Amino acid sequence: MQQVAINGYGTIGKRVADAVRQQPDMEVLGVAKTRPNFEAETAIEKGFSLYAAVEDRADQFGEAGLEIAGPVEDLVEAADVVVDATPSGIGARNKELYEEYETPALYQGGEDADVADVSFNARSNFENATDADHVRVVSCNTTGLSRVIAPLQEAYGVEKVRATLVRRGGDPGQTDRGPINDILPDPVTVPSHHGPDVETIFPDLDIDTLGMKVPATLMHMHSLNVTLEEEVDPSDVRELFADESRLFLIPERMNIDGSGKLKEYALDAGRPRGDLWENCIWEKSVSTVGTDLYLFQGIHQESDVVPENIDAIRAVTGAADAEESIETTNETLGIGL
Ligand code: NAD
Repeated sequence: MQQVAINGYGTIGKRVADAVRQQPDMEVLGVAKTRPNFEAETAIEKGFSLYAAVEDRADQFGEAGLEIAGPVEDLVEAADVVVDATPSGIGARNKELYEEYETPALYQGGEDADVADVSFNARSNFENATDADHVRVVSCNTTGLSRVIAPLQEAYGVEKVRATLVRRGGDPGQTDRGPINDILPDPVTVPSHHGPDVETIFPDLDIDTLGMKVPATLMHMHSLNVTLEEEVDPSDVRELFADESRLFLIPERMNIDGSGKLKEYALDAGRPRGDLWENCIWEKSVSTVGTDLYLFQGIHQESDVVPENIDAIRAVTGAADAEESIETTNETLGIGL
């Protein structure tokens, strides 16, 4: 049984903790937080041991009536693997701590790629992370793109990818983000940094990306154009995608016209927090013109990296191969709409 520490218990960390708990081969040793808030209270209610991430602020937990199991150093030392889900840039600063205790660590997509030995997407390059000490689970957008590119590359060959990422302004709980009434080229420079991030997974890929930010919180939307190495019938691409466990093809009959209904569907289906771990591809949008493939996909930024973190834990601990891990993660979480 792998003992997993979660350092940073926010949007991603709390979801990873719940997902770890559902796995037959791992358990949550504890979660570390910087300060007491509603998430700290929920962690205690769920029975997670709570550790203080910042020594100076440890007293605040006691003052808030929350029992602390110890400092984050104790947690890292005792764990088989630590999932760092702290805000962008903090993970790199924590690396020293993980090295000090020789605990393998996973970082999130907000960190620069050079924080880790390997950038990770379970479908695309699971084996590269086998027994690695420092692994970066790529961002929600890179995860979403990688899951589509990998099967296309294998089936038809990919000449070039062009993607416009229409990104949510902030997560639902991020009251300090925006815009609230605008449409921003973001970044305004073209191509955006997202393409090079996808190349950390596919080093030989030719990909250009453009980014925008809009007043939405629910999901990102990708407008994707992939130039394939051969002409393909859209029905064949749909069949290819239907076999991919982390791609959900939204059937026309469902009458889902956007991310609002998608999230509503996830809530109706009883998904925890209304999470959509899969890429949500509008089946009707999958079209071809010559060798060019086009589609729209919704990416739930708060949750698509969660199963990837679970698989990355198995990769770094050498506990399973890609197929076995993905199958276990999918089954336990209920992935596959
Ligand atoms: P978040 O702000 O929701 O959560 C981060 C948590 O870490 C907070 O609880 C914060 O208090 C805590 N924290 C801050 N400093 C800390 C420290 N020194 N030690 C321990 N904990 C500390 O952030 P998030 O959205 O969960 O993002 C975490 C990482 O995941 C980032 O790299 C981000 O880029 C990446 N990511 C986020 C999303 C998303 O849409 N939210 C999607 C994919 C990847």
